[in-house]
Amino acid sequence: MPNPTDLKTDITRIFELQKANAWKLKQSNPATRKTKLMRLRDRLMQVGEEVSEALYQDMARPKTTMPFDVQNAIDTANETIEHLDEWMAPTPVTAKSIDAEVNAYVHYEARGVILILGPWNFPFHLCFEPLIYAIAAGNSAIVKPSELTPATSAIVTRIIRELFDESEVAVFEGGADVATLLLDKPFDHIFMTGSPKVGKIVMAAAAKNLASVTLELGGKNPAIIDRKADIEKAAYQIMLSRIMNAGQVCLSIDYVTVPSESAHLLAEKMVESAKRLVYTDGRFDPAKQGRFVNRNNFDRVRRYVDEAVSLGARVILGGGSNADDLTMEPTILTDVPANAAIMHEEIFGPVLVVIPYDKLQGAIDVVRANGKPLGSFVFSNDPAFVQDVLQQTSSGGVSVNVWGEHYFDGRLPFGGVNGSGVGRYHSIYGFREFSHERPVFTRGPKAA
Ligand code: NAD
Repeated sequence: MPNPTDLKTDITRIFELQKANAWKLKQSNPATRKTKLMRLRDRLMQVGEEVSEALYQDMARPKTTMPFDVQNAIDTANETIEHLDEWMAPTPVTAKSIDAEVNAYVHYEARGVILILGPWNFPFHLCFEPLIYAIAAGNSAIVKPSELTPATSAIVTRIIRELFDESEVAVFEGGADVATLLLDKPFDHIFMTGSPKVGKIVMAAAAKNLASVTLELGGKNPAIIDRKADIEKAAYQIMLSRIMNAGQVCLSIDYVTVPSESAHLLAEKMVESAKRLVYTDGRFDPAKQGRFVNRNNFDRVRRYVDEAVSLGARVILGGGSNADDLTMEPTILTDVPANAAIMHEEIFGPVLVVIPYDKLQGAIDVVRANGKPLGSFVFSNDPAFVQDVLQQTSSGGVSVNVWGEHYFDGRLPFGGVNGSGVGRYHSIYGFREFSHERPVFTRGPKAA
């Protein structure tokens, strides 16, 4: 780790290098950009097992030969390579003027030098996905992976240094101190994935230079269940959301609002689902779920559960944990008083709360009281119910009768709203997020 003066000098040197290179990159054609993306994609295809091992070291994520994280980045690169020509083509606009010599269109111009700040919960693809779109749009970028997942961040760093000249893509490892030094530079755009708290710091830093931002944040994601829902399917999807990555997913469901008459059945099916997912021979098997990233996060979620119980909450499942290996049983709470912290803070652990309702308005009031989360999950076979919930609530995105597909499918614009974020990406929306959509109005001979 260089001393802060050296680090500051190095950040300035690389930032200036990238600034000087920006005009050249902006003019690069689709073929040049695709060559870089293919090189990156090919490298990513070699690191599945290595990343799996690193994720295991960082948070005991169950091992696989090709983790979702790496596959997701590969899929993003492939889709971008396939569509880059059409994404880069100007979008014609029908001008109001009927002058035959008038031509109006939107030109997609690189923003310039981009800062990408990554989170720890998916420390691999949440650095590479934005980077792929940044490169596709003709930008240079400096990436800072999370300091809380050092094994995975080391691979991110190595791949970037291997493949790119630092005048195009550079990487700095470190925590808030390094991020603060980086945020001091007049980047053209800052893309950050993380907590709303740090999102505000990033936005304030961007304001000094009027840099544009994409903030991919979190929030308290609800599941809203209809009387006519398939309770068994809903229960499985809800538990899956809370168990994947030990509940440390930005789209994990924090609480479930369910008609009172279905609450018992839902609880029963959620318990069954949890057992199917992460129990072996009738006992919780932490190896199937993974662990908290660190002691701070373990303690924070432990406190939420203990406080809720001390205020009268009932434990339907789990409640146990092990501070030595930072694991916690899937835990379902009900009868949680409104003043408990777990009712207001993003949980980010394998715990969720069931809230029965008599009239839908009761559920809507709870959802509205929790701001605008990243995702809402509606379980209903009645289109009118789904529309009602859409009209009466807000969130970054919505999946109906399934968990998280508005993210996983990859074709929809993904992002938050207000407290859960600013901006969006994925597919063409990712290319455009890293582009300035520059309107051009011309009068005169048209190009052949
Ligand atoms: P975080 O906000 O603590 O950290 C994110 C990044 O900001 C890291 O690179 C970190 O080093 C940096 N950072 C931390 N403190 C800073 C400071 N004071 N100044 C400048 N930079 C600072 O977030 P996290 O704990 O890594 O991730 C968890 C959060 O991320 C959760 O809220 C989760 O919902 C959210 N998240 C959102 C998405 C999404 O796609 N919307 C995806 C994953 C995680």
